[in-house]
Amino acid sequence: MLSQNIIDKIVRQDILVDELLDEELALFCQTANLAYRSGNPIISNEDYDFIYLAKLKNKEPNNPLLKSIEPEGRAFAEEKVLLPELMLSIDKAYSWNKMSKWIERLEKSAMLIGLDLNSIQIKATPKLDGFAGFDDGNRLYTRGDGKKGSDISRVFKRGLCVFKDSGRGLGAGEIVVKKSYFEKYLAHSFEYPRNFQSSLIKEKALDEQAQKAIIDKGALFVPFIKLPIWSGFVTELVAKFEEIIAKVLVMVDFDVDGVVFEVINIDLKTQMGANRKFHRWQIAFKENKDIVQVKVLSVIPQVGRSGKITPVAEIEPTLLSGATIVRVTGHHYGLVKEQGLGIGSVVELTRSGLVIPKIISVLKPMPVDIPDNCLSCGKLLVWESDFLVCVNHKNCPAQIIGRITYFFKVLANNDGLGIATIEKLYAHNIRSVSQIYTLNVERLMAIGFGEKTSINLISQLSRSINEKIEDWRFLAAFGMHRMGLGNCENLLKSYRLNDIFDLTLEQLTNIDGFAELTAQVVIQELVSIVDEYNQIYQYHFNLDTTVFTKDLQILMHELFDKRIVFTGNMSYPRNEMKKHAKSVGIKISTTMSTKIDYLVIGRKVGQKKIQDAEELGVVVMTEADYLSKITIQ
Ligand SMILES: [Zn+2]
Repeated sequence: MLSQNIIDKIVRQDILVDELLDEELALFCQTANLAYRSGNPIISNEDYDFIYLAKLKNKEPNNPLLKSIEPEGRAFAEEKVLLPELMLSIDKAYSWNKMSKWIERLEKSAMLIGLDLNSIQIKATPKLDGFAGFDDGNRLYTRGDGKKGSDISRVFKRGLCVFKDSGRGLGAGEIVVKKSYFEKYLAHSFEYPRNFQSSLIKEKALDEQAQKAIIDKGALFVPFIKLPIWSGFVTELVAKFEEIIAKVLVMVDFDVDGVVFEVINIDLKTQMGANRKFHRWQIAFKENKDIVQVKVLSVIPQVGRSGKITPVAEIEPTLLSGATIVRVTGHHYGLVKEQGLGIGSVVELTRSGLVIPKIISVLKPMPVDIPDNCLSCGKLLVWESDFLVCVNHKNCPAQIIGRITYFFKVLANNDGLGIATIEKLYAHNIRSVSQIYTLNVERLMAIGFGEKTSINLISQLSRSINEKIEDWRFLAAFGMHRMGLGNCENLLKSYRLNDIFDLTLEQLTNIDGFAELTAQVVIQELVSIVDEYNQIYQYHFNLDTTVFTKDLQILMHELFDKRIVFTGNMSYPRNEMKKHAKSVGIKISTTMSTKIDYLVIGRKVGQKKIQDAEELGVVVMTEADYLSKITIQ
């Protein structure tokens, strides 16, 4: 038998027919046939006949399955038709690791075409878990094998509407059922929306339920270009990845099984291109949905760098989505108390997209053990809302070691300064990052590090100073409360690093992401780090200055750095137009040549002038086009 997981992946075309082993293909055909006969088809008849069964016949003409299935054959008269456009599959990432490799690739491609890495723009849309189709305005096709599909225009004739009452002909999309509608009207008859979705396109007359879903606009065709989007620069994607995922996953009232990221910059898309299976400028990040039940062996309190005590549940070693899990965080002691996460409790686990295992729920609660004292310094713990906290921030060893380790981890341009090294330094009276930068090989050897290790540590320290890093990363390394990578970057998009210590509450609250409460906390935090900051800053770290938002907007239009010539009568005085163009980074010329990118024409421009420009390979655009392209949204 195939696992439900594999079957789902085949149905969703995460695994394409060509990727199946012969045995899997045969088993899938059998499963699909059984599902069809039980009245809950998992794939369309067309896909079944023309893709899977055809492939099986081709590969194993003597497979006994064919003989048992064929008499029941339900082949359609209709032929497979060529799709108006190739419908490629989307490359998938199940981990941040794979996402970051994708980002590396697009940065490499950007460099090849001289595109500034800070100008790479990305958009993210929810990945719908529906039935893929292509609407060319005339016909609707199934995705089929990506090249040929079936004509299922009948779905529109049945009254299927396009999402947001958009018109026809918007290209690729999915037939989906609204989640709210499914739960209200269909959940008692179908296990998943997917089972229902395929019944909408079947050839025989629709049953009442399906027809009603179409009329009620509970079922829709959603063209991808009509989906709501998140968009931003690649640096934001890196800094706020989890936040973006969480946001995009809940953007629509449809079943979503991931987030599709793609490059916006046209030149970069062209440069990256496609391989036979998918576009290189696009990737789908998908969350793992595997779930297991497991018994908790013990719950260990861990002291974080901020003094918060995190309960860590040690569990029976369990295989989950391809990795063995032995511990999982219980988040905070408020939750431990509330859920009964004690020794012997049974919990349900999953792995979120970032491969971190997480507890979905406690199935069988047990009495819990709440610690009274800090495991590291022995001080009495206090409750701060849901959190147990060691408030001995200045002297608690675990907190000091945590903060120093965090600094080097966030800089991410050094090796060997992990927790074991920092613990050893702590044992020899090193209490801060600035003290670490005063060390030399002799001192390290006196502490007990070997010669080679000592030399390496010193060279890693100078590497951390000399290797270029973003200034917001440097600031985030200080581990201030409410000042993660994202907020640090936001702050430095408006103010220079050395000016932030003088900011007023009002200036801070005017920045995106800094509500009043956050701003208050940040001001206190800045005061608390300023001395250590000054000590460290004097080593002249190689900092890359964040571009101010107001400057960045200038670079966001597609005419940036292009050479243009104005001609003809325009709505604004020529001098003003030139001055404005220069201020937004456009290069102005007065004579035409092959080096010119655009000729912007006003009224009364001779046909000859336009022809000459086109012969030189210069793109001609009207004044209205020009103005629309430099307007910053
Ligand atoms: Zn403590």
